[in-house]
Amino acid sequence: MTDAIRTDIHRPLALVPEDYLEAGWYDLGGAEEPPQMRLSDAVHRDFSLWGGVYTDELWRCDHCGARLRYGCELVHRPSGSHIHVGETCLNNRFSRSTAEFQRLRRTAALDRQAQRLLQASLRFRADHPEVAWADLDACGNAFIADVLRKLRQYGDISARQLEAIQTAYERDAQRAAVAVGQFLAGLYQPQPRNEFIGQPGERLGLQVTVRSIRSFESQWGQTTLYGMVDDQGRSLRYFSTGSFDAERDQTLTIRATVKAHEDYQGERQTVLTRAVVQAPLHVTSQRAAE
Ligand SMILES: [Zn+2]
Repeated sequence: MTDAIRTDIHRPLALVPEDYLEAGWYDLGGAEEPPQMRLSDAVHRDFSLWGGVYTDELWRCDHCGARLRYGCELVHRPSGSHIHVGETCLNNRFSRSTAEFQRLRRTAALDRQAQRLLQASLRFRADHPEVAWADLDACGNAFIADVLRKLRQYGDISARQLEAIQTAYERDAQRAAVAVGQFLAGLYQPQPRNEFIGQPGERLGLQVTVRSIRSFESQWGQTTLYGMVDDQGRSLRYFSTGSFDAERDQTLTIRATVKAHEDYQGERQTVLTRAVVQAPLHVTSQRAAE
């Protein structure tokens, strides 16, 4: 591309810098940075200035033929044709500011930095294979998400932060397990039935859950009142002065005799006597065999 053989309108000897308008600036990118493009205000005002005929040789200055990474797209206003030139030509031959190239370089540097930190954070994750990173990424806990964002941002986190997010995850998992357990328990919760059980004098086998325990002194000595419900939610009452032994919320199989049917504030309660614990249901068979 020497001046001697060029006859095109952009040939250097015929150059009229004022005939050219900057359409945009580009950075072809590098190994670590993606390509970038910035449109000029002129293009933003009149988009028809954009979209000229491009050659594949964006990496070569149309004016001097030098290899380039950063280029400026120029519109030749008299002909409407486009050329792209490198930084030196833009400044020296077209007398235009190269400030936009500085902006592109700064952006590329930020990309490089972001890439380095991203790689560092990936190495940090690889260095801690014991951590369930995928679960942490997906868990939706705001605190954990914030610490993971810091890991991406700074390339690493402290041992304390790492421990904190694992603890938070464990706690969430336990809460979730409890919530699921409560939900399932709720599904099988019998609707309370306001009914009496059996007939007075009848000896029954019952599955009961202890709802309340109250101890007091009576003429028979230490007495304990057990409020219970059976597996159909029917209310039971048993005064124990002896060996009946149960804990609140415990579910047991008992044998007992119906002593009376009583109405307590609208609730039908079956009063029991001579109750004997057959088996606390939550005890494993191994322990029961001891
Ligand atoms: Zn050039």
